Amino acid sequence: MRFVFADSVDTIDPEYDFIEDRNGKGRAVHRDDAYPHEFLDQAPYDGILVSRGIVGDIGHPGKYSEAQLMRFRREGARRFLRYPLDRFPGSIMLGDCGAFSYRNLPEPPYHADDTAEFYADGGFTHGCSPDHLIFDFDDISVTRRLSDVPEDVRSRYEITLQNASEFHKAAKALGPQFTPMGVIQGWSAESMAQAACNLADMGYDYLAIGGTVPLRIEQISRVLSALRDAIPEHVRLHLLGFGKIEELAVLDRFKVTSFDTTSPLLRAFKDARKNYWARTPGGDLSYYTAIRIPQATQNNKLKQKALEGSLNQEDARRLEDAALRHVRAYADGNVALEPALDSVMDYWAALNWDEEASPGRRADAVKRQRKAYAQTLGDRPWDNCSCRVCRESGVEAVIFRTSNRNKRRGIHNLHVFHTHLSEFRQETV
Ligand SMILES: [Zn+2]
Repeated sequence: MRFVFADSVDTIDPEYDFIEDRNGKGRAVHRDDAYPHEFLDQAPYDGILVSRGIVGDIGHPGKYSEAQLMRFRREGARRFLRYPLDRFPGSIMLGDCGAFSYRNLPEPPYHADDTAEFYADGGFTHGCSPDHLIFDFDDISVTRRLSDVPEDVRSRYEITLQNASEFHKAAKALGPQFTPMGVIQGWSAESMAQAACNLADMGYDYLAIGGTVPLRIEQISRVLSALRDAIPEHVRLHLLGFGKIEELAVLDRFKVTSFDTTSPLLRAFKDARKNYWARTPGGDLSYYTAIRIPQATQNNKLKQKALEGSLNQEDARRLEDAALRHVRAYADGNVALEPALDSVMDYWAALNWDEEASPGRRADAVKRQRKAYAQTLGDRPWDNCSCRVCRESGVEAVIFRTSNRNKRRGIHNLHVFHTHLSEFRQETV
């Protein structure tokens, strides 16, 4: 089972100065930054997914600057991402349109021909047909037919299939080294199985399942089961945007060939609690909460509190400074756990002081947060990880502060997840 990482320019500056909180001297954006596969000793994924929606183009800006966009189209994806095949043998370069970015338009802004051209310019090995997201998903007790669903759903279903039909023909120009993938969209397991059969009839032997991001694992399981019952056995399946990565066994059960996700990276700074990943002695994933010590001068909550007059900037900066110093001193063995936690919690309480809450609720919130932080600091998981992030930055990667720490923590998570997946693959061979 292949893990493809969905990139959205997730780079770090290897020379970042944690003490001064600034980039390395003379750093040039992108050129001097490192992708996860460049930074770690071993690439933590088997391929990279690049969405047209992320790259953007003249009419639809993405995350790339105009200069980066031009260079991407000129040099190709592998050179731009510094992910050459000879250094990463067997890796795939997958493209898709990034349907979520145009979900509100009546039709995708991309068509079969220009998408095939984008994949050709980028030197992609695999590419998805231009699809259109369907948000409905029928409960198990309801099975609507095509004639029962609203016009918008029907139109999205038909556009996705029509585009796939045109894309399969357009992709022939890219030669045999390119594998076109037909995207499945539907409002139920049954409608998705029907779409999959149509795609297989068009000649696709690799299908990508879209629209599953909001689905629960039981629903995904139902979709996979219906697909496997409907399509010929040789047809491979890819799951687009698979966030439920604890559930690898479900993918394995239905012989999913590949999936893409950004989840290990994103959870480092988007999840309320599961920010830094580790593994239990039994081999399961486990999680720690990152220690929030935001920059006082750039924090919106603090700005608001300063405006209201409930916390002045100087006090905030003093608390911030003490929290940072104590966490570092604790990591070096020069301060005990409790005083380090006191400093972290003083700053946390100043930031999160809720005027409206009752004293009891405030005390509960403080207790919960302190317990989570005590676990993180007490277990010192950064000392037990051999990845380059933990080796070089130690405790800095568990501090929730600035993109360079937060993304490093995400890259560490990718390393942990990749190790977890590799073991899972060995066990299930
Ligand atoms: Zn690590």
